[in-house]
Amino acid sequence: MNTEKTYTLRDLETTEFSGTPLAVVGHPIQHSVSPAMHNAALAKLRETDSRFIDWAYYRFDIAPEDFAQALVLFHKRCFLGLNLTIPHKVQALDLIQGVSADAKSMGAVNTLVRDELGYDGFNTDGYGLSRGLELDLDVPLKDANVILLGSGGAARAAAVQCMLSGCAQLYVGNRTPERLQDLLAVLDGVSGKMQIRTFALHELPQDLPECGVVVNATSLGLQPSDPAPIDVAQLPTGWKVYDMIYNPTKTALLEQASARALPFANGLSMLVQQGARSLELWSHSKVDAHAMLNAACHSLKLPPRYA
Ligand code: NAP
Repeated sequence: MNTEKTYTLRDLETTEFSGTPLAVVGHPIQHSVSPAMHNAALAKLRETDSRFIDWAYYRFDIAPEDFAQALVLFHKRCFLGLNLTIPHKVQALDLIQGVSADAKSMGAVNTLVRDELGYDGFNTDGYGLSRGLELDLDVPLKDANVILLGSGGAARAAAVQCMLSGCAQLYVGNRTPERLQDLLAVLDGVSGKMQIRTFALHELPQDLPECGVVVNATSLGLQPSDPAPIDVAQLPTGWKVYDMIYNPTKTALLEQASARALPFANGLSMLVQQGARSLELWSHSKVDAHAMLNAACHSLKLPPRYA
């Protein structure tokens, strides 16, 4: 089977996927670099373990109204694991059997693992962010001061991860106040001693601590002409900036951080780390995240990070 192709519900109805198939499922999905990342990691696993000889990772474009039917077919066709992306991460919660505790708090699943009766759901986005911050910016979430921008699905996973990891202080800003309140309601159910403060996106709090990390979880920056969601000039000099957006590679937010000589990174590390964690859940093996990163860079026409 061709792992470069984008498959549909019709393909799932009519085609046997031999071996051990995995897939990313979204709508739209054409842009996804996940098949390249995962197939590169599977090639590495195959070098030392013959268990992975027939594993392959595919891409499926499934509309929201077809998702429930598709999930039944994925199970029938013996797909061992699925990554879910926009717009399926929330809807899936009602269609699967087990949900991990952190995914339940986040209100979304991005990784499904097959068993005989159905799929169990996990969320590796929070883990991916946490590892990305450590690897790129040397920021462990524990005891960190975090300014989180946004209140959508990615922000929700980030906020829950901040709480579970024991952040010192969390500041959350969002354009739409109602959505910010929804996020706070979610966090109410997560145990932790962290303080949470909110702000309107265009007005950063005045009394920020000396150091911390800004995490952009808004989609502002996806278009090359988008402005930065905050004015980086208002941050104290000890702050670092992480943008979950990785394409474009340097958003206006990161340009501002760079101009002020603040350490910064884009969301490629988060993408790779959440993917590596998913593959570990399916394979129960240590996954080569460097191979995944290089494959993602290749798909995005960026130079490789590792020789
Ligand atoms: P989402 O649920 O649609 O949430 C979008 C967020 O962006 C909301 O907070 C929304 O605010 C805000 N927003 C949208 N347009 C805005 C604007 N013009 N000005 C200010 N705020 C605006 O999307 P999501 O799934 O959370 O994803 C958010 C971002 O994270 C996307 O760019 C996505 O690509 C990225 N992401 C990256 C990774 C990774 O692995 N690197 C993983 C997941 C997501 P309102 O509530 O006011 O609408």
